[in-house]
Amino acid sequence: MSLPENILIVGGGVFGLSTALSLSRRHPKSKITLLEASPTIPNPHGSSVDSSRIIRADYSHPTYAKLASEAVDLWRTTEWGYDGRYTQNGLLLVYPTGDSTAKDYTTKSYHNVKQLGENAQFLPTKADVLNAAPAYGETLQVAGGYVNWSSGWADAEAGVRFAKQKLDKEGKVRFVHGEVSRLLFSPEDNRTVTGVVYDQDKTITADLVILATGAWTAGLVDLRGRTVSTGQAIAYMRISDDEQRRLEHMPTILNFATGIFIIPPRNNTLKIARHAYGYHNPKTVPVPGALPTGETMQVSLPERGVPIPLEGETAFRTALKQLLPTFADRPFIDTRICWYTDTPKGDFIITPHPSHPHLFLATGGSGHGYKFFPLLGEKIVDALEGNLAPELAELWAWPEAVDEDSFDGTEDGSRSGEKRLLLVDELAKGNKAKRGSAL
Ligand SMILES: Cc1cc2nc3c(=O)[nH]c(=O)nc-3n(C[C@H](O)[C@H](O)[C@H](O)COP(=O)(O)OP(=O)(O)OC[C@H]3O[C@@H](n4cnc5c(N)ncnc54)[C@H](O)[C@@H]3O)c2cc1C
Repeated sequence: MSLPENILIVGGGVFGLSTALSLSRRHPKSKITLLEASPTIPNPHGSSVDSSRIIRADYSHPTYAKLASEAVDLWRTTEWGYDGRYTQNGLLLVYPTGDSTAKDYTTKSYHNVKQLGENAQFLPTKADVLNAAPAYGETLQVAGGYVNWSSGWADAEAGVRFAKQKLDKEGKVRFVHGEVSRLLFSPEDNRTVTGVVYDQDKTITADLVILATGAWTAGLVDLRGRTVSTGQAIAYMRISDDEQRRLEHMPTILNFATGIFIIPPRNNTLKIARHAYGYHNPKTVPVPGALPTGETMQVSLPERGVPIPLEGETAFRTALKQLLPTFADRPFIDTRICWYTDTPKGDFIITPHPSHPHLFLATGGSGHGYKFFPLLGEKIVDALEGNLAPELAELWAWPEAVDEDSFDGTEDGSRSGEKRLLLVDELAKGNKAKRGSAL
């Protein structure tokens, strides 16, 4: 199917870059522009850019398990995974005593990956878990789990750099840097999207606008009840050469009790992170639309450059005491909040906007989009052409809005932690504690 001549992609993360790669290959006659707010790609504040991302086919949903298995294969066997961009170290998924949701997610994932022929081993007791991953200590509090030796991790920043370099080399996509403040609509119907306004007063017009703006999308289109941006804590610590050697081949551990995961270190840096309901950061912004109505809405939007709250640091220290006790009190060299674009069920949103012709959305990563980098663009272009496989089209269609008051983040059985923590409150608690300790 032919696509419009003049296409604008907004956003230079996994969703935008993968779209640009596939679109420029499959539709060479189209004029493609990619507009990114950050002066650089990789964007250090983007969700796609970090030291590591887990690459796994371990899903409780069979469609994602199959798609992820195809993606893992591309990381393993193609240039996507070369030069240290992919490491296959295994993934250990563990669940605690008495958490039937986590046990259920783990058990379903195990059966899915076994069916896909992955090298996975069920670990029904704590002793089995420790046998599979002796680097973790006796202090680990788990009831069981499984290890999938076919999973691995990607150097996330290197993957983004690789995609950008590939696009630069091919020279078919024009890159522009600037921040979109709003969409442009046709004055004839006030519905059809005709381009964007960026950097205050500059405009780019296009026959098709693809928003791949991740956790920021909620400020450009009204996604209330459909996405919520949640901040997830990450911390990094320096380790010695000996410690690096001891830990670099261990499997990544994801503990469903706490959502905490540790990916093996590289270059003497160990990262600890949490897959949780995360922090909300409500901001009041105008309701997006063709004509300003003065109406405003409150949506959670990313905050750049803030440290993790005390709540997150305490959770990491507690987890380290269980997993790697010798690191429990070591200072962090850096911390960061990275933003998920959560949808109610964790399904991506890859679809035309239902009420704005010429606007297409490619977002809703829900904390699990990175692994699909090598094949996501192909699926997005399939969707643009109207050829997406029915099971994916159904999952990634414009979602029904859920009740905002009870929409805390993705409910797919994999999240942990307290719901609806407010970033501003949690940061204030940390500041208060610091002031208190100084008195
Ligand atoms: C802490 C954390 C851990 C994760 N772990 C995993 C994992 O282990 N495995 C996995 O598969 N996935 C993981 N993910 C999820 C994965 O990283 C994301 O799903 C994916 O990177 C999202 O890509 P994106 O393109 O939607 O967003 P982004 O990478 O954030 O890209 C969006 C881009 O749009 C730009 N933009 C936004 N607004 C505008 C604007 N108005 N104008 C111009 N440009 C704009 C931004 O600057 C940004 O560069 C994790 C995510 C986080 C945060």
